[in-house]
Amino acid sequence: TDETVTLPPVPAEPSAAAPSRSATLDAREISAWFGDHKVLDRVSLTMPAQRVTALIGPSGCGKSTFLRILNRMHELISSASLAGEVLLDGEDIYDRGRRITHARREIGMVFQKPNPFPAMSIYDNVLAGLKMNGVKANRGERDDLVEECLSKAGLWREVQDRLRQPGGALSGGQQQRLCIARSLAVRPRVLLMDEPCSALDPTSTRRIEQTIGELSDEVTIVIVTHNMQQAARVSHSCAFFLAEQGAPGVIVEHGPTEEMFNRPQDRRTSDYVNGRF
Ligand code: ADP
Ligand code: MG
Repeated sequence: TDETVTLPPVPAEPSAAAPSRSATLDAREISAWFGDHKVLDRVSLTMPAQRVTALIGPSGCGKSTFLRILNRMHELISSASLAGEVLLDGEDIYDRGRRITHARREIGMVFQKPNPFPAMSIYDNVLAGLKMNGVKANRGERDDLVEECLSKAGLWREVQDRLRQPGGALSGGQQQRLCIARSLAVRPRVLLMDEPCSALDPTSTRRIEQTIGELSDEVTIVIVTHNMQQAARVSHSCAFFLAEQGAPGVIVEHGPTEEMFNRPQDRRTSDYVNGRF
């Protein structure tokens, strides 16, 4: 069932006083299972407003699962279950009575493989999330929103003369920025990014990193990355996930990125960030 909501007010031009929709996301004692297979064990992490939090750790330790739990995508997997709480500025997104669509609108997701609708125009791709969320906007508002979101995603200058071309005609890096623009159109408070640059070349990667830096004022960002230089460049804080010998994933250590990289407390963190496993 579609909810109709009005667009929140457009933030003013960036300034010290610009209103930010960025909210703190607080995961408390999250455990997750696929059938009987426990993949996360009581993971707690605060992802502060107006900050970039990086999730690092080897493959299979539950980072993507954790990310999906943060915007209620996990429950769409039939074998999946979970325990714990996710608070968005203090409100549990899993509260009974809260709709899944609410969480999905407030907390956007960008995936490793850019997934614009390939046959849909660039313009309509940006607005696709609005339609899915039942958000109504008139023509003028739509035009403004497309420009605003493409600008924030660092893509406007490249595509402003060809908004009617299909999203699939763009390069991989441009497609990923289009996906970021699409996520921003519903004015999320948090943006989750699951290895958003793993499929991209170094130049496109830098563009996305620049965009992340510019966005972090107005939207809380949580990014999974296997690239330690990237984590060091873009994140304020970092959480190191690990699943040892068939045990479920846990956070071994988290803290300010600079400390995690230069003064890790745990030997396993130091081994990982220094590429020793
Ligand atoms: P990461 O993102 O850190 O590589 P994942 O969250 O993808 O880790 O996976 C964590 C564990 O959960 C792995 O053992 C993986 O095989 C399992 N897993 C992930 N998705 C599913 C699924 N849809 N069904 C069953 N098991 C899954
Ligand atoms: Mg993953």
